[in-house]
Amino acid sequence: KDVSGDSIRRRFLDFYASRGHKILPSASLVPEDPTVLLTIAGMLQFKPVFLGKVPRQVPCATTAQRCIRTNDLENVGKTARHHTFFEMLGNFSFGDYFKKEAIKWAWELSTVEFGLPADRVWVSIYEDDDEAFEIWKNEVGVPVERIKRMGEADNFWTSGPTGPCGPCSELYYDFHPERGCNENVDLGDDSRFIEFYNLVFMQYNKTEDGLLEPLKQKNIDTGLGLERIAQILQKVPNNYETDLIYPIIGKVLELANISYDSASDKEKTSLKVIADHMRAVVYLISDGVVPSNIGRGYVVRRLIRRAVRKGKSLGINGDGRGAFLPIVAEKVIEMSTYIDSDVKQKSPRILEEIRQEEVHFNKTLERGEKLLELKLHEALSMAGKKSCLSGKDAFVLYDTYGFPVEITAEVAEERGVSIDMDGFEAEMENQRRQSQAAHNVVKLTVEDGDDITKNVDETEFLGYDSLSARAVVKS
Ligand code: ATP
Ligand code: MG
Ligand code: MG
Ligand code: MG
Repeated sequence: KDVSGDSIRRRFLDFYASRGHKILPSASLVPEDPTVLLTIAGMLQFKPVFLGKVPRQVPCATTAQRCIRTNDLENVGKTARHHTFFEMLGNFSFGDYFKKEAIKWAWELSTVEFGLPADRVWVSIYEDDDEAFEIWKNEVGVPVERIKRMGEADNFWTSGPTGPCGPCSELYYDFHPERGCNENVDLGDDSRFIEFYNLVFMQYNKTEDGLLEPLKQKNIDTGLGLERIAQILQKVPNNYETDLIYPIIGKVLELANISYDSASDKEKTSLKVIADHMRAVVYLISDGVVPSNIGRGYVVRRLIRRAVRKGKSLGINGDGRGAFLPIVAEKVIEMSTYIDSDVKQKSPRILEEIRQEEVHFNKTLERGEKLLELKLHEALSMAGKKSCLSGKDAFVLYDTYGFPVEITAEVAEERGVSIDMDGFEAEMENQRRQSQAAHNVVKLTVEDGDDITKNVDETEFLGYDSLSARAVVKS
């Protein structure tokens, strides 16, 4: 059978369509829900139905949803399985079928339709979910050694302090069955396993008193990572080497004039980051997000900046107008047919937006170099024995001008100036805390509708005071 990414997506949707699901289009990356920054899962467009606020249009549905997860930004290119942009294949039941069908179909899809060897698939369940255990063991026939009970953190999904919630069950693929099957096997060991499918059984309502009362209308919400199942079926070592992403890396290789096989690990990471980020950027811009200093626009800006820096580290010089990302983006657009059919038609605007942002950032980098010079000069002319650049300055250079701290440190060291790394780390940690709080969770409670797009930004960039002066940054 055909295991191209496009074919896997098609086969998933057809599998569920032939089991009564209506195939619905992907929703935009910009959710209608004002409490959520970006679409991070397939269920988001159905949130009002799951909450019972809107009547269901169909009993069950299936989608290939484009998603963005900025909480995985740091993992990109480091793990084999995380992207900022990916597609989540999902099947959903709105008070229609429940646990038994969801489990049996997930198994049939994995082992019959996709043909995974049954003894390579492990499952996790929530520790108290005996019902799921029985179904996996008796109805499906998974040996008990390969059913792992896990705690609340991993296998219980909640939508907030109160509201719909329930246990989940995940499917993992085992790359190394020869390592054995015993009590101590850890599904979180990513040198051996990859999680590919998550089944959420929305069966309780959590009350103010913390009680779990059974829901009248039980729902199913699932997510299967397209790039992950493609990795497994195409037998490649990571998501990036699947046909969904590798052609983009191929384009970057051409621009850098290097070959993948001879690339160092660090170069490979750069290649993956550029490919990942350009997918995210193209689809975000297509869905109406433009680079800016707040909210969603800041996500795009950060992704472009990271991609530019990685490009420089690969020695890419760009076209006559000083931009290379549009060339990469063209490849992404060429591959966009089944992800977002509007992209091709919007292509000129998307490419121009990217080009402008890249050129603008290159100028920012030049200014950053000047700022660094200035700060080094200041540090050197300070009275005292040891010249030191403050953590705050290093952070501004990193966050506003896109200077990796290692570069700042290197340049500083050449001039005999050290960096307050503790101070820098403290600034980073502060930023991380703030952005995680904002990005991580799908809030299902509409009631507490604080508009997180307003305060998601750790750093609001207010412009340059004057060239000699530092950028004005509000933290
Ligand atoms: P992981 O533990 O690997 O980070 P997750 O448990 O956070 O994954 P879920 O929230 O359960 O992921 O999402 C459902 C499915 O979507 C996952 O099983 C996986 O196949 C896919 N997925 C989740 N996050 C990513 C990502 N950053 N990149 C690619 N696929 C992802
Ligand atoms: Mg995750
Ligand atoms: Mg997980
Ligand atoms: Mg999961």
